[in-house]
Amino acid sequence: MKVLVPVKRVIDYNVKVRVKADNSGVELANVKMAMNPFCEIAVEEAIRLKEAGGADEIVVVSIGGKQTQETIRTGLAMGADRGIHIETDDEVEPLGVAKLLQKVVEEEAPGVVIMGKQAIDGDNNQTGQMLSALLNWSMATFVSKLEISGDEASATREVDGGLETIKLKMPAVVTVDLRLNEPRYASLPNIMKAKKKPIDEKTPADLGVDTAARVKTLKVVEPPAREAGVKVASAAELVEKLKNEAKVIG
Ligand code: AMP
Repeated sequence: MKVLVPVKRVIDYNVKVRVKADNSGVELANVKMAMNPFCEIAVEEAIRLKEAGGADEIVVVSIGGKQTQETIRTGLAMGADRGIHIETDDEVEPLGVAKLLQKVVEEEAPGVVIMGKQAIDGDNNQTGQMLSALLNWSMATFVSKLEISGDEASATREVDGGLETIKLKMPAVVTVDLRLNEPRYASLPNIMKAKKKPIDEKTPADLGVDTAARVKTLKVVEPPAREAGVKVASAAELVEKLKNEAKVIG
């Protein structure tokens, strides 16, 4: 079975994000970028599936500018077999990404698409759901355990009340949650080997997909600064403040 893993290049999760002076978005110039953490979990899951004999090829695909190649190489260094880079400097919205991925799925015919539940930049949590709808494939979101056997899979999902286990007909789109696994670091020999693995280059036009934006960002602002705390001298004073100042107890 072939596994397709869409991965997104985002601002590294350790970086403090800054808003651009003109409030049009966040500052990306000279900012450290990395693979979206949920996408790393998806790559790891694909590798484990292959190691267990349940998959024979892992293809990572990413949509973005020139440097997105680095993110694809990270996936290849972790253990994926080859990459597909759909190059565009435009910011592609989830619907556009899903339409591009649909074309890639049609060309590659994977048995499963494993992807992040959300990208930590836009926090959209939409692409997987849109892709499964476009393909008319089964879908499991927020997956913390995945078992695939033949043309069926069992997926445990993290839902508000706890864990839900569902059965899926394959092929399927699976979006992964934090607790599914702990992604490996790429070893130096594997980083070297990854340089030789093939990356196929395409553009949205090659795939015949219109990625024009449908959503307009009006303004991006910093969250309000947190106010300093105060020290209280006694429990009685704390109760008094909670009652009369914060008005959170009666
Ligand atoms: P989102 O719906 O934007 O929160 O993203 C959810 C998942 O969709 C990500 O974890 C990726 O697996 C995939 N995805 C989103 N944008 C891209 C992109 N530009 N290239 C490849 N995969 C993407």
